[in-house]
Amino acid sequence: VTPIEFRSDFTTDIVQLMGDDDMVLRAMLISTLTDDKVENMTAEGKAGRIRFLMHGRHGTPFEQNLMTFRSEAPIFVYREWHRHRIGVSINEQSGRYVELPPMFYIPPPERPLLQVGKPGAYEYIAGDEQTYRTMVGFIKDNSIDSYHRYESLLQGVGVAKEVARMVLPVNIYSSMYWTCNARSLMAFLSLRVRCPSKQEFVDVSDYKDEFGFSIFPSKPMWEIDACARAIEQVFAQAFPLTHAAFVDFGRVCP
Ligand SMILES: Cc1cc2nc3c(=O)[nH]c(=O)nc-3n(C[C@H](O)[C@H](O)[C@H](O)COP(=O)(O)OP(=O)(O)OC[C@H]3O[C@@H](n4cnc5c(N)ncnc54)[C@H](O)[C@@H]3O)c2cc1C
Repeated sequence: VTPIEFRSDFTTDIVQLMGDDDMVLRAMLISTLTDDKVENMTAEGKAGRIRFLMHGRHGTPFEQNLMTFRSEAPIFVYREWHRHRIGVSINEQSGRYVELPPMFYIPPPERPLLQVGKPGAYEYIAGDEQTYRTMVGFIKDNSIDSYHRYESLLQGVGVAKEVARMVLPVNIYSSMYWTCNARSLMAFLSLRVRCPSKQEFVDVSDYKDEFGFSIFPSKPMWEIDACARAIEQVFAQAFPLTHAAFVDFGRVCP
């Protein structure tokens, strides 16, 4: 009997990086053919120009770079991730060509479980321990049963992988390379990292989030928010001035 692996984490490794804040500035400066050299600019001068671009939503200089991530996440997360069509490239493992590995997602205890409110304005709150245990039990049983049926269809009945996979649930892991640029990444982060608006806080000093406030707050699913936050950490390190300006101007994609 094949052992089934359960995970509650996601992989988001950066495997390729091209460009930096200086390249954003070079892309900006070509439009005026000014004598300014990026190498001669002060840190304040660089930050000021990048803030000018972000504030004016001059977006194209943020496209002259590239980041490739290798990710592992459940299929229900990719259903959402793949909706971001513009300025990205995707290659994903195939359920037609390979037997899908027996790796399934179970929500960790800190993942909110209960939905309250109405469509479009749902809030998610913690469940009690019993609710969590029941949910995990059901998901595990279902994952194990379905994977064994998958194997029986492949090995016992002999049907094709693309047919056998129809018994598998959406919490099975998949993997992909995802390539974006700073601009398409900011579009993704603005929708997939949950950051509140300032108005939600009586005293904004109560709120500590390294990724700031959103002018247009989104309410992404918990799991894609976790993936997007890990990716935002990489972005903040690779493009510190661009990231700081994105956060300062309310996480609006230029
Ligand atoms: C909280 C949340 C809830 C969601 N709920 C649902 C849901 O219930 N059902 C559902 O189907 N989807 C849902 N989505 C997915 C959503 O509708 C988008 O598909 C997804 O967020 C990708 O956004 P995008 O189209 O802006 O991204 P991209 O495809 O990367 O596009 C980037 C930008 O390019 C421009 N653009 C792209 N394509 C076109 C086009 N064809 N015409 C004109 N301009 C274009 C737009 O300016 C767009 O913002 C939800 C997303 C979020 C964040």
